[in-house]
Amino acid sequence: MLFSVALVAALLCVQCHSGKEVTMPTAAASATAIKPRNIILMIGDGMGLTQITAGMYSNNNRLELERFNSIGLHKPHAYNKLVTDSGASATGFSCGKKTYNYAIGVDHDTIPCKTLMEEAKERGLATGMVVSSTIVHATPASFIAHNKYRRNYEEIAEAFVTSGIDYFVGGGLKYFQNRIKDDRDLLQEMRDRGYLIEDYFHQDLNHLRPDPDKPYGFLTAHEDPLPVESGRDYLLPTTMTGLTHLMNRSELGFFYMVEGSQIDWGGHANNSSYIISEMLEFDRIIGNILDFADRHPGTLVVVTADHETGGYAILESSSMNKLNTAFTTIGHTADLIPVFAYGPGADSFQGIYENTAIYDKIMTLMGW
Ligand code: MG
Ligand code: MG
Ligand code: ZN
Repeated sequence: MLFSVALVAALLCVQCHSGKEVTMPTAAASATAIKPRNIILMIGDGMGLTQITAGMYSNNNRLELERFNSIGLHKPHAYNKLVTDSGASATGFSCGKKTYNYAIGVDHDTIPCKTLMEEAKERGLATGMVVSSTIVHATPASFIAHNKYRRNYEEIAEAFVTSGIDYFVGGGLKYFQNRIKDDRDLLQEMRDRGYLIEDYFHQDLNHLRPDPDKPYGFLTAHEDPLPVESGRDYLLPTTMTGLTHLMNRSELGFFYMVEGSQIDWGGHANNSSYIISEMLEFDRIIGNILDFADRHPGTLVVVTADHETGGYAILESSSMNKLNTAFTTIGHTADLIPVFAYGPGADSFQGIYENTAIYDKIMTLMGW
C-alpha cells in the first residue's frame, strides 16, 4: 500500500512540474524511492567475470547484463575453505551465514537457518524457483531445505512437500518417485496438498498453463536436464510463465530464484562452447526479466554467481567469435564475483562485500 501511494505521488509530480507526457518511472529511476515488492534473485552458477566476458564477445560484444548500472563484487569464500562449493555459497545468499562446503541451509554448526524464501512465505509473498539442474541440487536446495550434506537428494526433495512453494521447475524426478530410501511418492503427496504437478512425459512447453488457484511444479527430467547445446529449451519460457503465476498467487509480491545452473558444468568440463551457450541462455533470460521489471516498478532484480568455475581465461584470439581460452582447474576458484542490481534499492549493491551481505541487503530493503 505504501508502495502505491509513493508511486502515485511520483507520477503526479512528473505531471505537475513538467506538463509533459506522464511516463512510468523505470525500475532503475525509482531505485531509492520505494521498498521492493518483488525480489528476483538470478544466480549463474560458476559465472565469473571470464564466463561473462566470453559470452559477451561471442555475442557480437553485447550482453543484456550491460543494462545494469549498479554493480558490486562479493567475496564467495566459505566458512572453512577459501574455495566455496555451491551449497556454502547459496546458503550465504539464502541465510546470510558463512557455512562449510556441502552445507544446505544450515550454519557451520549444522543448525538450520531461516532462508529468504521462508521469510517471504511467512509474510504471505508467493515463492518460486526455476533451475536448469535438478531442483534438489545445491543452489535451489539451499533456499528451501536444511540438510547437513548436499548429496542427500531424497531428503532434500522432502522439503518441497511442506514448503508451500508456489512454483518450481527443474529436473530430478527420480528423487520424488520410486525412491531408494523409502516408498514415498512425493509428487502424489504434493498433489494431495493441492499442487498441480506436471512432468516431462506430459509436458508441452507451449501449453504450460498453471492454474492460478494451485501451487505448481514441473519436473523437467528424470535426473539432470540436458545442456542447451543438446536441446534444452525450457528455462526461458518457464521463467516467464512463473512471473505471471507468482503475481497471481499473492497480492503482496513474490520472491523468485532463477538459476542458470549449467554455466558451472561447462566450467568443470573445461568446455568453452558449453560455458558460452549456457551463459547466453542465462543472459537472454536476464533481458526478459529486466523488461518485466520495467513493466512492474517495485521489482528488484539481483544477478550474481556463487563462484567462478574452471579458472577460465581468455587469451589473444583471432576474432571475438573464435576465442582462444584456457583453464587452470576442473574445480572452482576463489575469485571475487560480480553482483548486478536493478530496481528499488539497487544502489545498495554497489561496493565490495561478503556473499552473505546479499542476504543482509535484501532483508534490510524489505524491512524483514
Ligand atoms: Mg556452484
Ligand atoms: Mg547450482
Ligand atoms: Zn561446480
